Amino acid sequence: MSTGAGDCQWKQNFKGKAAMTDKNKLPSRARVVIIGGGIVGCSIAYHLAKRGVSDVVLLERKQLTCGTTWHAAGLVSMLWPTPYLTNLAKYCHELYASLEEETGQATGYRRIGSLSVARTPERLEELRRTSSMASVFGVESEMIDNERLARFYPGINIDGILGALYIEKDGQTNAVDTTMALTKGARKYGARVLENVKVEEILVEDGQAVGVKTEQGSVAADKVVLAGGLWSRDIAAKIGVDLPLYACEHYYVVTDDMDGMTKRPVLRDFDKGVYFKEDTGKVLMGWFEHNAVGCPMDRIPEDFAFDEFPCDLEHMEEYLLRGMATMPALEQTGIRLFFNGPESFTPDNLHLLGPTPEVDNFFVACGMNSKGLAAGGGIGKVMADWVIDGYPPGDIWECDVRRHHPVQREQAYVEARIPEALGHTYAMHWPFYQYKTARNCIQSPLHEVLKEQGACFGEVAGFERPNWFARDGARAEYQYSYKRQNWFEFYAQEHKSMRESVGIYDISSFGKFEVSGKDAERALQWICAGDVAVDPGNLVYTQWLNERGGIEADLTVSRTGPDRFMVTTAIGSYNKDWWHLKKHLQGDVQLRDISADYSCMALQGPNARAVLEKVAETDVSIEGFAFASGRYARVGGADVWLQRLSYVGELGWEIFAPASETPRVFAALQQAGAEFDIRNVGLHAVNSLRLEKGFRHWGHDIGSEDNLFQAGLSFAAKPDAGNFIGRDAFLQAKAMGLPDRRLVQFKLDDPEPLLYHNEPIVMDGRIVGYLTSGMYGHSVGAAIGMGFVVAPGLTADRIREATFEIEVAKDRFSAQASLRALYDPSASRMKI
Ligand SMILES: Cc1cc2nc3c(=O)[nH]c(=O)nc-3n(C[C@H](O)[C@H](O)[C@H](O)COP(=O)(O)OP(=O)(O)OC[C@H]3O[C@@H](n4cnc5c(N)ncnc54)[C@H](O)[C@@H]3O)c2cc1C
Repeated sequence: MSTGAGDCQWKQNFKGKAAMTDKNKLPSRARVVIIGGGIVGCSIAYHLAKRGVSDVVLLERKQLTCGTTWHAAGLVSMLWPTPYLTNLAKYCHELYASLEEETGQATGYRRIGSLSVARTPERLEELRRTSSMASVFGVESEMIDNERLARFYPGINIDGILGALYIEKDGQTNAVDTTMALTKGARKYGARVLENVKVEEILVEDGQAVGVKTEQGSVAADKVVLAGGLWSRDIAAKIGVDLPLYACEHYYVVTDDMDGMTKRPVLRDFDKGVYFKEDTGKVLMGWFEHNAVGCPMDRIPEDFAFDEFPCDLEHMEEYLLRGMATMPALEQTGIRLFFNGPESFTPDNLHLLGPTPEVDNFFVACGMNSKGLAAGGGIGKVMADWVIDGYPPGDIWECDVRRHHPVQREQAYVEARIPEALGHTYAMHWPFYQYKTARNCIQSPLHEVLKEQGACFGEVAGFERPNWFARDGARAEYQYSYKRQNWFEFYAQEHKSMRESVGIYDISSFGKFEVSGKDAERALQWICAGDVAVDPGNLVYTQWLNERGGIEADLTVSRTGPDRFMVTTAIGSYNKDWWHLKKHLQGDVQLRDISADYSCMALQGPNARAVLEKVAETDVSIEGFAFASGRYARVGGADVWLQRLSYVGELGWEIFAPASETPRVFAALQQAGAEFDIRNVGLHAVNSLRLEKGFRHWGHDIGSEDNLFQAGLSFAAKPDAGNFIGRDAFLQAKAMGLPDRRLVQFKLDDPEPLLYHNEPIVMDGRIVGYLTSGMYGHSVGAAIGMGFVVAPGLTADRIREATFEIEVAKDRFSAQASLRALYDPSASRMKI
């Protein structure tokens, strides 16, 4: 990532200039106002000013770093859960390493390395997988044995340790000094950083942020960025933006001087939940507790600055004992500081970044989950680019503030979920892991029925969905592992039943939006890359693009009437897609969220027609019901919208029934399917079925930075049907010919290893990308996945001729690669 100055196009788009020149006074206007002088706000100011947007004012209610930043332990980790965040962490290290020279302010940044130990084979595998993922971005790491571990960390008790991950270039820094260096840099490039100015209110006019009101007066601004740490939720709520953020107590201790404790790498003992950092000859020991104590805002006094909470020794004892077991010398060492301070966390342990859909020109950067120091450098860069360019420097959907469903932003939800999320930081990051708290917020009309039939539920965006079905008396509970989990055989059967006979799955979690009115067709034509000017009763698989040609959504538009359409989208992008429609629909159009009014049951498999014709009062024959068509019909005694589509690659229908009628329709379908041994199918099997077919999943496989040619989806766009958002970019990409970044399907030759996602793709011995999805392909007999390959001349022949391997936990396995689907590439089965 570059941070080159001088990108001035955006600057010209701003109206007016700062009214005052005195850098210590509150101006009456600025191009950007940043709220909050912690590491995040200061990093954003630095990056904005460095890119040439110097008319920036940062307002801090008390003194810089006084919120959470001043007491950060100082770890700057390269270990992150996702590829993009790993890449950002790498950038952050490079920035912190160079700040002192750039600004003249010492930061305390040191590359002292880090060690992460494993006490179970599963943790060892997790560390190996993390190490593999990090290598995609050139982050070097290695697995070491206990002998080397003891050499790197004299005094460690290696009993019970099976090995460790060593990252030589990992580091630590001083939080206050690093923030001050960023501030100095920001000021050097022209930004104003003002202390003791409390923002009382964000000013909003016609749905747009237009400035802030402070105790000392108002500042008009073109854009407002909220980096207010744990105060952010309350500040944003005043203007109707609900942020899923909640503070928790967070602890560490600092010992007296310890012999030989210099230049030690950071040590993480995940299985015990503790970490150790050398701190000028002492040890700072902290932890991520499984029993975190929440901290409602009424516990934070108005004048809270450089403050802390009382320490509950009983609460700490467990972790102190764990720490002593890892580092026995602690038993003989005094503790000079017990520390407990608040930090805010999010429901999924990932940040909240970007423009809010509710209020235009209002951006947030909060929810640091006790990694704000390590993240701050990169987040400053991401936010500055986002504010200036209108989009971030890469696909950072996992941290996008739009990702949460409204129920996940309710106070009860955040209070219940977030302490668990904090504890999850150092817990095992099992594949398919399901949180235990804040469950059952949104249920399908079939929830109880499916529960009785053995459903094991998983939660996505607050919605409970059946992931697999327990059979033969088994309990519907996950037993996690990196190997085959307890439900592997059940889901294999579900997968095969859909391929060989018929299955049904509940996908009521779909977001369902009705777009109607005189201009509905015209308005949707502008938003969709596909041609939705079809006759009523037709379905269009389409993407929504951004101006750069990147894919903002991947969904189905069903024309349910002359002036009426239904948009169905995945629950994970429900909130984002709703706002996209709201912002881009023009003319005489009405938009209605009908998600909760209708269920959706997908009946799929070669016997789907035979089942449906027993209960549907409509012609479902090949001639009577074409693929990609839909109609209102009576099914199982209820009036439903029936459409012929498949996300699993088989003959099948989706049945949208009124919520209250759904159990009745479902029972009729099950009864009709009994002679074909119809099976309940969970969403894990749907995932493996769709991957065999090469069907993409927005948010995982494709996103706002991928164009249709790279994603292999250019067939879905219809540039000749009229103008649409991103059409010019689409045509430009088309003119450029073969992209050197293409989404490719893989199948391992060895049937044993499992793929999840993030595994490196190796082409002719060189890492060229990573898997965005992975699952076991039961119809093709091995683990499969897909991911972007970056290499020149990526023709089908070149891909066929190259040697591919997938790296799983540091071991490489040979793989077959294909641009076409691994199963039924001609798509004949869906169209029978
Ligand atoms: C015990 C502990 C140890 C930690 N250790 C680490 C670590 O080792 N590594 C790591 O990466 N992270 C660590 N963290 C987390 C890290 O400290 C935070 O993630 C980070 O400091 C958050 O920075 P911020 O800028 O988002 O928030 P803050 O530092 O809280 O900054 C927000 C600022 O906004 C100001 N503000 C609020 N309201 C207003 C208003 N109305 N007007 C103007 N200003 C306002 C506040 O005064 C505050 O200064 C630790 C946290 C704790 C509690």
